[in-house]
Amino acid sequence: MILLGPPGAGKGTQAKTLSDFWKIPHISTGDILRHAVSNQTPLGQKAQSFMDRGELVPDQLVVDLIRERLNQQDASGGWILDGFPRNVTQADFLDLLLSEIEQPYDRVVNLEVPDEVLVTRMLGRGRKDDTEETIRRRLDVYRQQTAPLIDFYSHRNHLSSVNGNLPMEEVTEELKQIM
Ligand code: AMP
Repeated sequence: MILLGPPGAGKGTQAKTLSDFWKIPHISTGDILRHAVSNQTPLGQKAQSFMDRGELVPDQLVVDLIRERLNQQDASGGWILDGFPRNVTQADFLDLLLSEIEQPYDRVVNLEVPDEVLVTRMLGRGRKDDTEETIRRRLDVYRQQTAPLIDFYSHRNHLSSVNGNLPMEEVTEELKQIM
């Protein structure tokens, strides 16, 4: 499953619950990058300034890390992608990679949440990149670069939409139904 949606839509929360339920890995490029930043690995050093500004890190960095992650043994029976792909280049790359490893996705789900709810949620999260300025930047980046993926996947008839503004458990139920 691929989870789409703006920052703060609840992708991470839902992916964690479903990962436990389906016993498949939750793969979050944001989590992997944050881990790399806190360990100051070469990847983390390259990614940090982009993340602090609320910009996307260069495609090559995330594409390499996704290729490596999806080739790991625990990903062979399925996965939930959260935060990848983030633009059309990444989505094209993912199509190629998945056909290479013969692991198609089943569904792409778009979590829909109104902007004012997103901002409130993110401000309450207390993450380092959750200042008002970077939140605004991340929402702009989402609209410009990530939202076009909604059309990208609906043209392929792989897209479902879920109201992400319902209580957490209800969203989880909807996602289970979709699968
Ligand atoms: P997230 O936890 O998904 O909100 O991601 C946090 C930050 O990590 C984003 O604001 C980006 O700077 C970076 N990031 C995460 N995933 C990607 C991606 N697929 N492409 C580019 N940058 C990403």
